Amino acid sequence: MSSKVQPDHVKLVIDGQDVSVEPGRTLLDAATAAGIRIPTLCHLDGLPEAAACRMCVVDVDGRWLPACATEAVDGMHVVTKTPEIETHRRTVVELLFAEGNHVCAFCVSNGHCELQDLACEVGLHSVRVPYSFRRDRIDASHPGFLVDRDRCVLCGRCVRVCAEVEGAHTWAFANRGTDARVITDLWETWDDAESCTSCGKCVESCPTGAIVCKGVSNAEMVKDAELPGELVARRNRG
Ligand code: SF4
Ligand code: SF4
Repeated sequence: MSSKVQPDHVKLVIDGQDVSVEPGRTLLDAATAAGIRIPTLCHLDGLPEAAACRMCVVDVDGRWLPACATEAVDGMHVVTKTPEIETHRRTVVELLFAEGNHVCAFCVSNGHCELQDLACEVGLHSVRVPYSFRRDRIDASHPGFLVDRDRCVLCGRCVRVCAEVEGAHTWAFANRGTDARVITDLWETWDDAESCTSCGKCVESCPTGAIVCKGVSNAEMVKDAELPGELVARRNRG
């Protein structure tokens, strides 16, 4: 992949900049290669795209499309940031905060959280809609890890890394809409989930303080979100 124009590459314009990428790459790949940042939340290098969070929507010739799941095509004109798109992104983050219980000062992921970083990036100063004040079940049955579903943003990174990289298929989604939750082995408690290999990939992949290690205190949970991508690359290299 290159931002230099090459004959067999797809050529498009992103934010007024000529960009050239290998065929089959996404708009997110193309923008990243050109040094243009598009905010993401459910995307994680090495995992199949879910296009779930809608943070990465961009304007493609007048249509809004998720950059992570849209293939770059010759002649596209892409705008990654407009006042309307910025408002949309801020609203997405605002609703995620209102839906969960995100009291960052008391969170083990404080200072190391992608949701918190996004809130800063989009300029979220307050939440204007009522909080849902969810009281969901914390599952701390696993000896090493715990899941606090009130901090889950339903990005599905844990589900995908568990299935696609570890091959365990422990994590899945249950229910729909506001009742949607991540679950282990069809609602078994985590410690009773026999498919779990305790590899910890869900911990590293989770962008928030929803899946964390036990024994860490406020702001101590630092994750390595590069890890799943590295594991995929290593596996593909054989
Ligand atoms: S998960 Fe992130 S956004 Fe939510 S309380 Fe923890 S640090 Fe804050
Ligand atoms: S537990 Fe974490 S990784 Fe899994 S869906 Fe929720 S926020 Fe995403």
